[in-house]
Amino acid sequence: MPAPETSVMSRLVSLCKRRGFVFPASEIYGGLNGFWDFGPLGVQLKNNLRDAWWRAMVECPPIGPDGKPVSIVGLDSSIIQHPQTWVASGHVGGFADLMVDCRETKMRYRADHVLCVNVQYEKAGQTKELGGWISTLEGDEAEVAITKKAKKLIQKSGCGEMVPFDMSKAVNLTTMTEAQRAHVIGPDAENPGTLTEPRAFNLMFQSYVGVFQSDDSKVYLRPETAQGIFLNYKNVLDSSRVKPPFGVAQVGKSFRNEVTPRNFIFRTREFEQMEMEFFCAPEDGMMWYEFWVAERLRWWEEQGMSKDNLFRHIIAPEDLSHYSKGTSDIEYRYPFTAPGFGELEGVAYRTDYDLTQHQTFSKTNLEYIDQEANRRYIPHVVEPAAGLTRGLLALLCESYRYDESRASPEWLKLKPSLAPIKVGVFPLVNKDGMPEVAEKLYADLRRTYISQYDAKQSIGKRYARMDEAGTPFCVTVDGDTLKDQTVTIRDRDTAQQERVALDKVKAYIGEKLAV
Ligand code: ATP
Repeated sequence: MPAPETSVMSRLVSLCKRRGFVFPASEIYGGLNGFWDFGPLGVQLKNNLRDAWWRAMVECPPIGPDGKPVSIVGLDSSIIQHPQTWVASGHVGGFADLMVDCRETKMRYRADHVLCVNVQYEKAGQTKELGGWISTLEGDEAEVAITKKAKKLIQKSGCGEMVPFDMSKAVNLTTMTEAQRAHVIGPDAENPGTLTEPRAFNLMFQSYVGVFQSDDSKVYLRPETAQGIFLNYKNVLDSSRVKPPFGVAQVGKSFRNEVTPRNFIFRTREFEQMEMEFFCAPEDGMMWYEFWVAERLRWWEEQGMSKDNLFRHIIAPEDLSHYSKGTSDIEYRYPFTAPGFGELEGVAYRTDYDLTQHQTFSKTNLEYIDQEANRRYIPHVVEPAAGLTRGLLALLCESYRYDESRASPEWLKLKPSLAPIKVGVFPLVNKDGMPEVAEKLYADLRRTYISQYDAKQSIGKRYARMDEAGTPFCVTVDGDTLKDQTVTIRDRDTAQQERVALDKVKAYIGEKLAV
């Protein structure tokens, strides 16, 4: 099916805006880079994804590798915690990305996102170098950006033909020597050598608690939800009937002053995470790590992600954090990373690092006393940490379809149980007793499923509106309904209609949603 010229991402971003999934934050004031708001359909879809995670983690966790039902409890901790939390966790000292500033344009970039190409051109049969590496930010527009800039510079330096370059051979700014970096033309600059040396930039947002603003009252907005779980580990242990192995799960906002927020809601400065810390005996750490990697991959597939678009990226031993005995990123093939993948969730075996750090800094004993085995130990931790807002993006990318043979070429093939609206209810025409029957059906359905009544415009347009929202079922009351008490139910994916008895509609939808 021929798709329009614009990229999938730009079409998806405009669909999200037009249909009320995601809006740029503070738009009437010109927007705020790195912040997005979720509209009526977006917040519902996000809540549904969050609820599916909460159900799979807290309400009905899986059976563990030991054959027993896994035990996980929930938590909702403060966004602002004691500032020592972030000293103990290492975020105050080390939560930094390398960044570069451009002296020419005053722009700031994450150094590991800048790709550089040494473009050559041909003039009078001779191959020449431009005298500067052309750089751009990694992403699906990278090659286009380099080509455009190269052609402009070649034209400026006299005529010649650009020699085709291989984007896969582009060099990351962080891997270049200082001498090479001196010849890089910044992503938005005209001249070489205007980028500063990469330097660390702390990603935590700061604020102050109380009336006086001083170093003593300085606090941080949490950059991850996980630390709130470690701080409450002892409270949970003392107040609930859990003992290792067990998990504590939490969903909530996190904040990172990302240097280069981009790719829609992939990397933002305010986002939501779904994190679970699983506490176990030291000797069982590796077993639980493997278990959770497999389980989390399975869960994403269950939400409708195709196996082909998911990838387990095992972090090489030399790249692991010093405290980790194993980390795997669960990656998704986003349109802007394709054919490659980008992170969706990280599963890390963090050993006893976090609890030991908090024990040292807080001087509170965080050992678990196993009375049966007569032993005490600091539990080891396996952490599946997923992005909720990034997960929402992956869901939208996965479900986006373009098919010109349909009334609405753009539609979302969302898993029915995740769809923000489950049922559309329409009278075929707004007369002959049809609206009355449809309104009654709607009043009944909305008590169980999020439903929408729509009597405006042609039936085709109403189907199209529901397709764009990803609504799996549309029920239409027509002339026959008044004669034989049946309605049509249209399936979003096949666009086929089935006649179903009016009093069986609820059960029909219930059955389909249970899958
Ligand atoms: P990245 O390498 O993409 O910066 P990370 O490895 O720092 O991510 P973690 O600290 O492991 O990420 O956070 C767990 C999850 O939280 C990530 O897998 C991602 O889904 C989500 N996440 C992290 N940073 C952001 C962000 N700035 N915007 C949206 N989601 C994020």
